[in-house]
Amino acid sequence: MKNSKMKFGTKVIHAGLEADPTTGAVMTPIYQTSTYKQASPGDHKGYEYSRTGNPTRNALENNIAALENGKFGLCFGSGLAAIDAVIKTLNPGDEVLSTNDLYGGSYRIFTKIFEKYQIKFTFIGMQEMAEVEKHISKATKLLWIETPTNPMMNIIDIKAASDLAKKHNLLLAVDNTFATPYLQRPLDLGADIVMHSITKYMGGHSDVVMGALVCKDEKLAEELYFIQNSSGAVCGPQDSFLVLRGIKTLHLRMQRHSENGKALARHLKNHPKVDKVYWPGFEDHANHRVAKEQMDDFGGMISFTIKGNDVKDANTVMSSLEVFTLAESLGGVESLCCHPASMTHGAIPKEEREKSGVLDSLIRLSVGVEDIDDLITDIDQALMKVNP
Ligand SMILES: *Cc1c(COP(=O)(O)O)cnc(C)c1O
Repeated sequence: MKNSKMKFGTKVIHAGLEADPTTGAVMTPIYQTSTYKQASPGDHKGYEYSRTGNPTRNALENNIAALENGKFGLCFGSGLAAIDAVIKTLNPGDEVLSTNDLYGGSYRIFTKIFEKYQIKFTFIGMQEMAEVEKHISKATKLLWIETPTNPMMNIIDIKAASDLAKKHNLLLAVDNTFATPYLQRPLDLGADIVMHSITKYMGGHSDVVMGALVCKDEKLAEELYFIQNSSGAVCGPQDSFLVLRGIKTLHLRMQRHSENGKALARHLKNHPKVDKVYWPGFEDHANHRVAKEQMDDFGGMISFTIKGNDVKDANTVMSSLEVFTLAESLGGVESLCCHPASMTHGAIPKEEREKSGVLDSLIRLSVGVEDIDDLITDIDQALMKVNP
């Protein structure tokens, strides 16, 4: 069956994958090799050197491309290495417009690495495209967006961003890490590039750091392949195998993440010690309408604040949780919690941070796929420890 005809739950298991041609192995083998024998110079089986191409990595790249309804997939040693490759398509003097509610590591590579090479980055609110349009100049080449955003769960309208990008001849790149193609497919909405931190939901088991890009346009893909091979930030075959294995259950995991996320978000909203709950599935979420249009469900990421906004209370909750683990990262089968004000957003001055809603008592949850009753019991016993 052609990849394009398969439904999502079939693609995660089959798209881009074939039984191994030499042995018939049903699961893609780990081709742990740096190089490949040539019969005579230039006479090889399509592989010369594993930075340029490796069968295990290529299988994963083809699979991810199919999941995003793209044509070309590229995998990297981390999500940031994937972002690095996209920005390297630009030239000194070019400008990038990006959301002001951006993953911290993306903000850091843009401002601390690429600004040195005279690429300019402007960070703005992207809820209104008319506002974004005011910042477009002749030098603007790329719109970089992330939706839902971290940790405030804001939603950006991908279709509207794509219309704006097309009008001004810009590329649109979407960081799809939080949603995954199970919930949201940016290329179908007109984006040019989808980026993933595979480390999170795609890998899904908190055991690999990896990144990916997917696009449809052949010329753009060639440019990105050239950078992948020339800069060399590729991922290894062992990690590619682990991610291929993780992706086979992406649809099952995302379905459960979304169910558990919904149940926990609703529970928190009615909790007497909780102030605000940020989850795009609520009808009173500022961008709920867009979220409903562009996402198939709302995923497992939730942020909430505690009444009184005291950092001590947030610390009490986080150190009392037993099923949720206090740790960076997200998207694994296990539930995690983190404290954005001191962890991911610690480098941003308090005033700036609070303007975007990252208060001292804000806790971000990555709701795993455990039994929901245990997750609710855990949150309740931890919140009980907060003084009234
Ligand atoms: C983690 C993350 C990244 C960076 O990916 P790494 O794999 O850690 O390099 C980029 N964007 C988002 C939204 C992330 O959560």
